Amino acid sequence: MKISPVEDLFSVINDTATILQEELSITFLEALAETGENIFQEAILQDEEISELSKKRLKKSYESLKLDRFTVEEIRKSFQLAILKGMKESVQPNHQMTPDAVGMLVGYLVNKFVTKTSYRLFDPAIGTGNLLTTVINQQAGKQIEGMGIDVDDLLIKLAFINANLQQHPIELYNQDSLEPLFIELADAVVSDLPVGYYPNDVRAAEFQLKSDKGHSYAHHLFIEQSIKYTKDGGYLFFIIPNGLFESEEAPKLHEFLKEHAYIQSILQLPLTMFRHENAAKSVLILQKKGEEVKAPKQVLLVNLPSLSNGHQVEKTLKKIDQWIKENK
Ligand code: SAM
Repeated sequence: MKISPVEDLFSVINDTATILQEELSITFLEALAETGENIFQEAILQDEEISELSKKRLKKSYESLKLDRFTVEEIRKSFQLAILKGMKESVQPNHQMTPDAVGMLVGYLVNKFVTKTSYRLFDPAIGTGNLLTTVINQQAGKQIEGMGIDVDDLLIKLAFINANLQQHPIELYNQDSLEPLFIELADAVVSDLPVGYYPNDVRAAEFQLKSDKGHSYAHHLFIEQSIKYTKDGGYLFFIIPNGLFESEEAPKLHEFLKEHAYIQSILQLPLTMFRHENAAKSVLILQKKGEEVKAPKQVLLVNLPSLSNGHQVEKTLKKIDQWIKENK
């Protein structure tokens, strides 16, 4: 049986991470960050902490690897498979990597909406970098400077490795995205928002979308913060819970959006993609208001069919294209 390039690269990443995991008594995800760094630096950086035998085994595996023979998508996918394996071992639900199917759809939408040929793309909850790099890999012929923030130091390390191995220039910051940011404004934002309460009430008090009582919703604050750090007229693509506009805080969110942005589209992802209906998500597309920016004639509302239904998917993509022609 012929082994695909993704399987081939995955097996080197997997084997070397397993050796490092055992030698260093760390988790598989931590070991992935270690082996990724080794691959990128073309060195064994844990030289002093591991046995001679393991060193030899690592060296042999790394030497069999010719990274320049792989496309960026092959590199991303193999690394993604290894992260998925590590996440099965231990990860909080809110830190899950964005699945490929969602990344591909967002990449398609970014390509249709953002027509600039060179721009800054920001993900304030970058996690492993899978969503951001999936999107960047679909913007053929465009020059994109990435920018990402995450509060989780292991995930951002994985994002750093992902960016390096795929040779994408991505500026990364390991901090709370809801603190004041010292970054250049973005032309566009993509983000799979962390959903839940933000524990820092003092900081939340600085936001228009703070809750009047108790903790505020992190996902609401993320929307406000992202709009703040986007240029006028810039587009924002958020993965949101389906019930975003139905919570008791929703009227405030509506009010806020009316003031600062135009809702372009809400695309509900197929329920078959999620384990439970209440975990189901949508893609919300906004455009930040600005002098020359006009509201769309009507908001594009789409219920995406299951991705296995090729005919329906094609029909839906045609509907999106038609809407863009009429509104953009
Ligand atoms: N798109 C990412 C990927 O492909 O790996 C996954 C994003 S995950 C659904 C949400 C991310 O938000 C997690 O990585 C989590 O660490 C991060 N996060 C949660 N609260 C945060 C905060 N206040 N500031 C920065 N990042 C935060």
